[in-house]
Amino acid sequence: MKNEKIETLKGLTLKELEEFFLETGQPKYRASQVFNWMYNHVVFDFDEMKNLSKEFRHNLKERFTLQTLQLLDIQSSPSTQTKKFLFNTIDGKKIESVLIPEGERNTLCISTQVGCPLDCKFCATGLMGYKRNLTTGEIVDQYLLTAKEVGKNKITNIVFMGMGEPLLNFENTLKSIEIFTHELTKGLSRTRITISTAGIANKIKELTEKNYRIKLALSLHSPFEDVRNKIMPINKKYSLNENLIALKEYALKSKTRITFEYTMLKGINDRLEDAKELARICSKLPSKINIIPFNSIKHMNPTGISAELEPTPINEIHKFADRLRNYNITVMIRETQGDDIAAACGQLAVKYN
Ligand code: SF4
Repeated sequence: MKNEKIETLKGLTLKELEEFFLETGQPKYRASQVFNWMYNHVVFDFDEMKNLSKEFRHNLKERFTLQTLQLLDIQSSPSTQTKKFLFNTIDGKKIESVLIPEGERNTLCISTQVGCPLDCKFCATGLMGYKRNLTTGEIVDQYLLTAKEVGKNKITNIVFMGMGEPLLNFENTLKSIEIFTHELTKGLSRTRITISTAGIANKIKELTEKNYRIKLALSLHSPFEDVRNKIMPINKKYSLNENLIALKEYALKSKTRITFEYTMLKGINDRLEDAKELARICSKLPSKINIIPFNSIKHMNPTGISAELEPTPINEIHKFADRLRNYNITVMIRETQGDDIAAACGQLAVKYN
């Protein structure tokens, strides 16, 4: 084998492994063997790849690692059974994944960036700033290391909603989905995978063009452009209107329903006119609303508008949801999950970073 610059095989798709092994003089079938060991049997040591010759394993071991992350800590919420997994990257960055039980479902919330460049005013990760994109291997290893801890069959769904904006790490996010859903990995079906985006309209259009069939969620948080401009600066680049047009095309082509994520902010997006406008938007495309109670970010000592944000009281949240239901909109109120271990949405700013 030539001495290539690849340091980890983790994150390579089957096609990339085939190309790599062919280039290095190995038969093509080696690729599916290694792919199967890495992503289906979830081994982290080449010596466990028993159907490879000893010499070949030795060669691989000399040049490559199979692990991109180290699991540092697991915290469990006594109240909700939510589990937070803290990982260290090879360059010393800390990232988190969160496993959220909801009845029969166990959803793993995965990060795609260290920090986030989008600066949403209600989000602790946004306040932390942006460090870098995660590699495909680092995205995949969040799933594999968690699965090793809790059992693969205990993860029924994946949502790209941890730290970072997945559509700004487009290629690595899609490659990780290709691996998660590949028939050889006996993994998840695409219908069990959701990308949650703050609204990167041109990438949503690209997903439509690719005829991609995963679920999409838009972090909506206000149905009005001017309010979104204030609390989600990305709206100035990709307006809500542009995103809604792109999402409608995606929903119709993929035959999926769009989820609107809606964090309830007192006096900002919980008024009568918000419910009315939200209902108008929902009537335009197959969709549902996921209402999320706001988790305080006061511990981050925020300034500006972030410092003024308060949660809508729970009784007001229920009234708001009922108003929407009166318009025949499907509405879910997400229970606050794991805020006792800082694992709830928007709290994934890791103190170690
Ligand atoms: S809400 Fe999502 S997109 Fe916005 S800053 Fe936080 S992590 Fe980034």
